[in-house]
Amino acid sequence: MNKEDILKVKALLATKKKIVIVPHKNPDGDAIGSTLGLYHYLLKSNHQVKVIVPNDFPSFLKWIPGNDQILKYDSQTNQCNPLIEEAEVIFTLDFNAFHRTGDMEPLLANSKALKIMVDHHQAPDDYATFMYSDVNMSSTCEMVYNLINMLGDENTIDSQIATCLYVGIMTDTGSFRFPSTTSTTHSIVARLIEKGANNSQIHNNVYDTNSYERLQLLGCALTNLKVIPELKTAYITLSQEELNTFNYKKGDTEGVVNYGLSLNGIVLAAIFIEDKKEGIIKISLRSKGSFSVNEMSRKHFSGGGHTNAAGGKSYTSLKATVDNFISILPSYNKALNNE
Ligand code: 5GP
Ligand code: MN
Repeated sequence: MNKEDILKVKALLATKKKIVIVPHKNPDGDAIGSTLGLYHYLLKSNHQVKVIVPNDFPSFLKWIPGNDQILKYDSQTNQCNPLIEEAEVIFTLDFNAFHRTGDMEPLLANSKALKIMVDHHQAPDDYATFMYSDVNMSSTCEMVYNLINMLGDENTIDSQIATCLYVGIMTDTGSFRFPSTTSTTHSIVARLIEKGANNSQIHNNVYDTNSYERLQLLGCALTNLKVIPELKTAYITLSQEELNTFNYKKGDTEGVVNYGLSLNGIVLAAIFIEDKKEGIIKISLRSKGSFSVNEMSRKHFSGGGHTNAAGGKSYTSLKATVDNFISILPSYNKALNNE
């Protein structure tokens, strides 16, 4: 976003507006942290603000300030529709195309509201009036901090806003370890701590509130872990039956794919999770170095994301999906073995 755009957004937000903030479907820490961080900021400026998420979010995020104010489109559709129809401004956060919001897509596409995109995914669609898109950013939360700062309001960041933004930076950077983590990311995180984000408590709330069943499910996933050493690839499967055995709840498989990537010498890690209700296999891909799982997911799994973290789906069975994955790997032999 250039200086001119910032001045225009500043002028736009100078008077009270009806604002809706929307993140992607199956919202993660960055999606919820960024929407709620922006929500608190805009509320402070006296706007009429609502956060609408396409569907529910994991319980390890259900302590973040403002989480109880979030509307869920899938279960509160009648309440959400008029809010979107009457919105003057819609912020779209942490996604790059309307289809990433699932059932909200047509409503957003037809809305007359002015759209402001804040996002760090590759290949963004061109729907926004104001587009703050930067694939080099660690997280959308880092970008919301930048946006508030560029609007000249860094001083308005309080402990609530700081807490929300800290969550998303922490979760999207794998606790500050992925290559997207820069010295600027650390400077921003330091500022957020100064402003009242309780880093240790936040880490505890997100990562150390596991149920016994979630750990048992992790044990099952690790038992299912397979390695293809000659292609520097590791993958995990979880069937619906296995999920049911361990009483799977939303968010329980978050981060499990990273165990494959933690193996010495592994460049590509995948997890395939059966979802009988949606009739799909949900796929998460992670990589090290320049191997682009974004490209792999776009080409083979109707998805996308970032160079080192992407998601996608398959409409065939779990076994057929894994077989397909294994069959395409040799075409990436060179790229995998050059890392
Ligand atoms: P995850 O594997 O954790 O679901 O997603 C990894 C990254 O890829 C996240 O940044 C997520 O937003 C993105 N992502 C996940 N699924 C999709 C998809 O279907 N399409 C696109 N474009 N991005 C996705
Ligand atoms: Mn993100």
